[in-house]
Amino acid sequence: MIKASALTEEFGSLVFNDKVMRDRLPKDIYKAVHKTIEKGSHLELDVANCVAAVMKEWAVENGATHFTHWFQPMTGLTAEKHDSFISPMDDGTVIMEFSGKELVKGEPDASSFPSGGLRATFEARGYTAWDPSSPAFIKDGSLYIPTAFCSYGGEALDKKTPLLRSMEALSNEGVKLLHLLGYEDVGRVNTTIGSEQEYFLIDKDDYKRRKDLLFTGRTLIGAPATKGQEMEDHYFGVIKPKVSEYMHDLDEELWKLGIPAKTKHNEVAPSQHELAPVFETANIAVDHNQLTMEVMKKVADRHNFACLLHEKPFEGINGSGKHNNWSVCTDTGLNLLDPGKKPAENIPFLVFLMAVIAAVDEYAPILRLSVASAGNDHRLGGNEAPPAIISIFVGDELAEVLKAVEEGADYQGQGKAQMSMGATVLPHFTKDNTDRNRTSPFAFTGNKFEFRMPGSSVSVANANIVLNTAVAEEVAKIYKKLEGVSKDALKDKVMEVLKETLAEHKRVLFNGNGYTDEWVEEAAKRGLPNLKSLPDAMPYWISDESIELFTKHGIFTKEEIHSRYEILLENYSKSVHIEALTMQEMVRKDLTEGIVAYEKDLTKEIIQKKSVLEGAGCVLETSVLKGLEEASGKMFEALEKLEKDTKTAEGKTETLDTAAYYQQTVLEDMDELRKYADAAEALIPDKYLSYPTYGQMLFSLR
Ligand code: ADP
Ligand code: MG
Repeated sequence: MIKASALTEEFGSLVFNDKVMRDRLPKDIYKAVHKTIEKGSHLELDVANCVAAVMKEWAVENGATHFTHWFQPMTGLTAEKHDSFISPMDDGTVIMEFSGKELVKGEPDASSFPSGGLRATFEARGYTAWDPSSPAFIKDGSLYIPTAFCSYGGEALDKKTPLLRSMEALSNEGVKLLHLLGYEDVGRVNTTIGSEQEYFLIDKDDYKRRKDLLFTGRTLIGAPATKGQEMEDHYFGVIKPKVSEYMHDLDEELWKLGIPAKTKHNEVAPSQHELAPVFETANIAVDHNQLTMEVMKKVADRHNFACLLHEKPFEGINGSGKHNNWSVCTDTGLNLLDPGKKPAENIPFLVFLMAVIAAVDEYAPILRLSVASAGNDHRLGGNEAPPAIISIFVGDELAEVLKAVEEGADYQGQGKAQMSMGATVLPHFTKDNTDRNRTSPFAFTGNKFEFRMPGSSVSVANANIVLNTAVAEEVAKIYKKLEGVSKDALKDKVMEVLKETLAEHKRVLFNGNGYTDEWVEEAAKRGLPNLKSLPDAMPYWISDESIELFTKHGIFTKEEIHSRYEILLENYSKSVHIEALTMQEMVRKDLTEGIVAYEKDLTKEIIQKKSVLEGAGCVLETSVLKGLEEASGKMFEALEKLEKDTKTAEGKTETLDTAAYYQQTVLEDMDELRKYADAAEALIPDKYLSYPTYGQMLFSLR
């Protein structure tokens, strides 16, 4: 385990970070790289050559023999292809080389990555381009260079490119507006993200014995254990020793990679945990979250665990999400979502707050879509995650501030309340301005918004691309309304614009309990969309409004939007298809084997006993046997229906129609089949099953 005293040295020891660059690069080169990172200016080849040479030297010193461009194609995962640094000499020896060209550009064969029709498979060429704003790092003996990935025609084939574009759009619009408001020293507006990551840990052997977990990441059958999460004894509970060892090891690996892992605790469901990092600039935070997920799995393997990142690995208990804490901050150090001591007078805060409220209301369907996946559909709308309806929680104090804005009244402010706990030995402290609301999908938490809808396994890039772009658009709208107003009249005009914006969008504000049926009804009355599944939401992605938004700000071309539409739908259908086949196999083979073996033993027992007891007795055995027969009979019918409907789905070609069929028919069939499979499983002793039960998986770790 890492010594506490060595932590500051270990942190970032495998990262080619700013300090390494400052120490090792010639001064002018360092400055040039910095300019590129901060201002997005173009990097000259001679600068790249110099950086590459220094990077290679540093990487080799730290044990790297290879380098790889590292990118995030539309699979949602990361991709890498390693080349060694070696360059053979005439005399049979090698030297280690790495050029600026190799640093800035890669040419992976792009034909096997999803492109959603952006190019035919024979047009294989794709490019990766170095993202100097996310630092390179060393992992498993290779130098990893974060890159963007595009096609030969220049279309983005990844998640980083549009994310960077969206950060730039928000920065451009933000700077314009801030200049207008008199903040002329602001040169850039940065998006910051801290993404809390939830996960499950189970025993590796248990994991390996379940085809559903192996192939799909979630359990497709499984009777509930007699204990679930109802005792509320896991959340923030004592961390078990083996899990604690894992968490230490995980932190250490992450720290070496410069990932600021900060908080760890047990989550609500048994065997569920969470890790939260300190927030960083959006594109670095996204890269770091991708790495975090990968390292979580790798370290789990070393500890004989499997780390499950699926949104809903188990029925009947909470699934896992990823809370996307989001804020905007100027290069002069001003957090634009920090209300400060006098929120009602804090113009930049009010303006940006209003832009966020308008953006979330106006583009709710697209924001909902940004977190849609086959896995996350199981989570949104259960009483554990926010519902599929998007609303904003602002808390009491801000609600008062907004009311004052609306009424054109003065807001006096509550001032910070003192908290006294009634025992003199306990310290007094000031209370936060807002309580928390865990049921809100989009909650203001003091100086940032927490978007709670993203699923645990997906890249948070999409959510932030949509958020940044939508807010950029609303900031631009506010700018337009204020443009040309004289300095003296500006403050009144700002208040007028805020009032208008609020009147238009206040329907999205909701401070109550988002898990109730009353809210679902109320939201419908307010006209807020409730898009329950990915196929329901998908048409909004290619709507005129969406195309207008993304093309206007240069985030996606129309072609890129359509390609993503195809990819998302295809991914969805493929995921459910694999689940359907896996479920069929598990029921037909594994569960059936258990049922048959147990029925055989029961029957034998009944026959023997009855012959001894001359036809009497066996009440228990007979009732279990009958129960099993009944459940398995229905199970068989449901299985046949699922098999038939899966075949029908395989014959479909139109992507939206196919996905809708998987959602409406195949998933329904799976639910029906699961009901009877679980009823049968509940009657069978564990030893007859070839796979571990819920009880075993969720409660066996020590
Ligand atoms: P809470 O407990 O209210 O969720 P924390 O302070 O623990 O608040 O923060 C949760 C996450 O939010 C952390 O990852 C943290 O780094 C991140 N965070 C804090 N401030 C910001 C900010 N300005 N921008 C983005 N994320 C932030
Ligand atoms: Mg939080």
